[in-house]
Amino acid sequence: MGTQQISVLIAGAGPTGLTLGCELARRGVAFRLVDKAAQYFHGSRGKGLQPRSLEVMDDLGVIDRILELGRFHLPFRGYEGGKVIGEQDMHAGRYPTPSTPYASPMIIPQWRVEETLRGLLERLGGRVELGTELVGLEQDAEGVTATLAHADGSTEVVRSRFLVACDGGKSFVRKHLEIPFEGETWKDERMYVADVTATGLDREAWHAWPKHPDGFFTLCPLPSTEQYQFQAAVPVGSEEEPSLELFRKILKERTEGMPIELTGMTWSSLYRANVRMVSRYREGYIFLAGDAAHVHSPAGGQGMNTGIQDGYNLGWKLAAVLEGAPEALLDTYEEERLPVAAGVLGVSSKLHRQITASGNASGQRDAVTLQLGISYKEMSLSRAAGGALKIAAGDRAPDAPGERVDGTAARLFDLYRGPHWTLLRLFGSGGWVLDAVDGVKYGDVVASRDGVVAGAASGVAEVFVDAGGHVAEAYGGSGEYLLVRPDGYAGWIGTAGEVEDLRWYMGRQGLGNRD
Ligand SMILES: Cc1cc2nc3c(=O)[nH]c(=O)nc-3n(C[C@H](O)[C@H](O)[C@H](O)COP(=O)(O)OP(=O)(O)OC[C@H]3O[C@@H](n4cnc5c(N)ncnc54)[C@H](O)[C@@H]3O)c2cc1C
Repeated sequence: MGTQQISVLIAGAGPTGLTLGCELARRGVAFRLVDKAAQYFHGSRGKGLQPRSLEVMDDLGVIDRILELGRFHLPFRGYEGGKVIGEQDMHAGRYPTPSTPYASPMIIPQWRVEETLRGLLERLGGRVELGTELVGLEQDAEGVTATLAHADGSTEVVRSRFLVACDGGKSFVRKHLEIPFEGETWKDERMYVADVTATGLDREAWHAWPKHPDGFFTLCPLPSTEQYQFQAAVPVGSEEEPSLELFRKILKERTEGMPIELTGMTWSSLYRANVRMVSRYREGYIFLAGDAAHVHSPAGGQGMNTGIQDGYNLGWKLAAVLEGAPEALLDTYEEERLPVAAGVLGVSSKLHRQITASGNASGQRDAVTLQLGISYKEMSLSRAAGGALKIAAGDRAPDAPGERVDGTAARLFDLYRGPHWTLLRLFGSGGWVLDAVDGVKYGDVVASRDGVVAGAASGVAEVFVDAGGHVAEAYGGSGEYLLVRPDGYAGWIGTAGEVEDLRWYMGRQGLGNRD
């Protein structure tokens, strides 16, 4: 049998590989997504989606399903033995605003996120190949030759232009390339994590016993399941392996005999805090993403989210280059995402230390942990050619509710949703500066329906009426053009006078005229 030739091979179908797979599938790229596991993973592991990841789910068109499966504002209830000592909403005051439809993290089991992404992947015509392990790779001037081992003992050679390693913290690819994974393992900071069923405990709070001398203990109801996630600090010096019996003993000791019974367990692990990352994300045609590139403390719920956004950042760039955009576009993946991981490692380590010192998992949550403040400002893909808006090139493009020209409700995110770029003209008049360009959607934002008549909005543009003034509030604008990237960041800002610069910028991303 001959060697199969594809555009992208993705190794690993966790949240990172699945997000990347969906991004490639919706752009029609020829790819394969392989995972060495025989079955889909069914442990909760990560149980939080940050607001920025919820926006990714919105863009992918699966937010409604995610909203059904998760829960916002679950209060954190502290106990000392059997006595409740307080209850706190970790995200008090964080409710949706016009610019931020998802304002606080959602509790949702990681496997539910993966299941939802797999469902989308299948609807897009893709699939995960289970029992298929990447066991060898070589790179030459044109691409990558990979060896896959199948569960039945057979092997297969695949030739791909690009390989993306989404193969987790123990990444085969990272080790094979001898890319150092720099950082620390905090050997004494270990935690049992398990998915359990329990009786005698309500599901209206994340129950926590933070102050026991052996360390913290929590039981968090996992939405859209009947389970709780069990987490307990492992006492220093203890070598006991996780088991339901051990967890019953811990529960009895740390709750001082509360009448809670653990009735079953479907997954457990002994987790050691690892805080590590690579110093490069790319080697030739090979990219590292997600836990393969950075591992975090679970505190602050950042790992899965950072991986999802790695996949989301890399997907459209790979597709663009395969369609003929200059390959330098791919260098911006590391430029943009490596500093985010470095920042996240700092945040999650700081939160981890706060929690282990105080036993309080409620910790501090701010724009950094919510990941809404991530900006690629002053990086190669962010270009301010002229004009002035309230956001800078490279910033997240906020949402804003408004109306279509027929008066029905719409949001800016409706315009952005999908694999395209969006070119907005913010409160300008006169004709459009650009004719239609493939891969770009046009939006003409006007202050009121009267403005449509006065502005004689062009035929290429969908008219968005800023009826409540929310676009003006979030973006400002008096005739500026804003090119929003497929991943929802402001790429180019300028005026009609800088249209040549806009053409040049688009050409660099493979849009329109590539000369
Ligand atoms: C206890 C715990 C709590 C956590 N809490 C949170 C949280 O609240 N929020 C959060 O955001 N994150 C959390 N995380 C982190 C989160 O689980 C990870 O960051 C996330 O799973 C990383 O996704 P990934 O797709 O990069 O890697 P993984 O999910 O590890 O997936 C890697 C995949 O690659 C496959 N694979 C490995 N080697 C090969 C190979 N050679 N060939 C083919 N396939 C291969 C594996 O089978 C696996 O399916 C937590 C983690 C733990 C352990």
